[in-house]
Amino acid sequence: MIEQLPLRQKVFSQHARNDSWHQRYEYLETLERLITENQAEICKALHLDFKKPEVEALSAEVMPLLKEIRFTQKNLKKWMKLQRVSTPLLLMGSKSYTRFEALGSCLIIAPWNYPIYLSLCPMISALAAGNGVVLKPSEYAPNSSRLLHKLLPKYFKQEQVAVVEGGPETTTALLALPFDHVFFTGSTEVGKHIMKGASQNLARITLELGGKSPTIVDNTADLKLAAQKILWAKFLNAGQTCIAPDYLFVQDSIHHHFIKLLKAELEVFYGTHKDDVRSSKSFARIINRKHADRLKGLLEDALANNASLLAGGEVVLEENYVAPTLLDNVDVHSKVMNEEIFGPILPIFKFKEFSEVVHFINEKPKPLTIYLYSNSELHVRQLMKETSSGTLSINDSMVSMLNPHLPFGGVGASGLGNYHGLYGFETFSHKKAIFKQGWAGKFMAMLFPPYDAGKLEIIKKLIKLKL
Ligand code: NAD
Repeated sequence: MIEQLPLRQKVFSQHARNDSWHQRYEYLETLERLITENQAEICKALHLDFKKPEVEALSAEVMPLLKEIRFTQKNLKKWMKLQRVSTPLLLMGSKSYTRFEALGSCLIIAPWNYPIYLSLCPMISALAAGNGVVLKPSEYAPNSSRLLHKLLPKYFKQEQVAVVEGGPETTTALLALPFDHVFFTGSTEVGKHIMKGASQNLARITLELGGKSPTIVDNTADLKLAAQKILWAKFLNAGQTCIAPDYLFVQDSIHHHFIKLLKAELEVFYGTHKDDVRSSKSFARIINRKHADRLKGLLEDALANNASLLAGGEVVLEENYVAPTLLDNVDVHSKVMNEEIFGPILPIFKFKEFSEVVHFINEKPKPLTIYLYSNSELHVRQLMKETSSGTLSINDSMVSMLNPHLPFGGVGASGLGNYHGLYGFETFSHKKAIFKQGWAGKFMAMLFPPYDAGKLEIIKKLIKLKL
């Protein structure tokens, strides 16, 4: 059955290729209805999967989807237009254009941490570009996966959007099929398998991966605001966010004061006593026992390597609960600093000179995001010029992903390609070059065989001309 999917979606796309923008606009309208009419069910599924608080479900899954749909609808007509591009003097008389055309059938493989948002956000761009889509949601968020499997066929024809549920075996089987594009969001390790799988059919590929995103606070920052924003970004979704701050560097002159601020603000967020934190309705759970065990292991290893516990540290495996945890004096060789944490544990380091941090970051794989809290233009410029990352965000955490004018994606180990807004439309399109020769076309005959000394002279002159 799944064997037929790529062809079926491709046939759909061949028709959709000629859609008017009204028609594509309608597809997005349908997706918007799916989300708004089922908002309560979406929140319920996310709560069942990992007790995601409703405010987080609405602010980090539903709202960004609706904003992305509206932005795409607003710009779609412009993006779909044939674009005239300039022509060099050498080709005078001709006209050149580009046109975005649908790729055909696109496979979207989603992770579990924002299981609705990360399934539907790439779909917005894929539908806007006129493709047929097959979605493979994550088996680790079964309630969200089931909901998508139930809802999408109610709103879309199967040949436009199909949902296939399952785990790695299903993904592997799908990758063997001739999709035109594979869009994967997930871990760097699995990303390597996906790239290999997609190569079987020379499918185009986008990899939205993870990694360790550093956060830096220097002594010119607005410290209280920085503390609040870092805690919010780190503990949203219980730290299970690809662009969450993974670890923190604080300048030594403010280190003591900043830690006091972090601890105080953490109590404001989730409560003072450990039981208040555990029963807080504002804090999600770890997705499953396997990941809760993994995080417990990271914490124990850090403490065994002489890290000091500043806050949190409680783990209740039966509830997949890991408390919001702050660690100081962490050994950089401990496990917590050698894999993506992807949970509510924040290691904190001191630095004296800014160049130490730059050096530390550059020794590691390129991160998805670097966050800097600072009012020093010098530090901003230094990070901009001397480091490489998917995003550089100054004086805020995570919210840059809400700007559809910015590309979202990593570089190196944190990803390949990007999306959101026009970047998503481009990712799911082929940019076709269209060339139309005009009155000067006949002059090219001057260079046709048989070649002789005269023709050689002409080409030598053309090379010298600065056209
Ligand atoms: P994952 O890589 O384990 O799984 C992602 C998808 O791949 C799932 O649908 C899963 O079924 C499938 N999969 C898993 N193992 C596979 C295998 N061996 N072969 C084929 N398919 C396989 O990732 P996850 O645990 O769901 O998500 C967490 C990771 O995703 C983190 O690393 C996080 O940073 C990253 N992430 C990145 C972004 C981003 O936008 N860059 C967003 C969210 C999550």
